[in-house]
Amino acid sequence: MTPARFVAALLGTDPEPFGAHCVRCKRWTWAPVEVGYIERQSGPGVVLYGCPSHAVALNPRPMPGELERDV
Ligand SMILES: [Zn+2]
Repeated sequence: MTPARFVAALLGTDPEPFGAHCVRCKRWTWAPVEVGYIERQSGPGVVLYGCPSHAVALNPRPMPGELERDV
């Protein structure tokens, strides 16, 4: 969840509430935080989310585009 969507969700102005299952506790959260990304050999990769209380304890992994260098 981007900071802008997080603020919009808090204010209730987000048109599409977004939720996901936490990779640690497997519970549904309406404030998911991106904590990882799994590349797949075919098709798009899978983004891993954590609930706010577990996201701070999970080791962050690079997200798509974070390891690419600007030349
Ligand atoms: Zn959790």
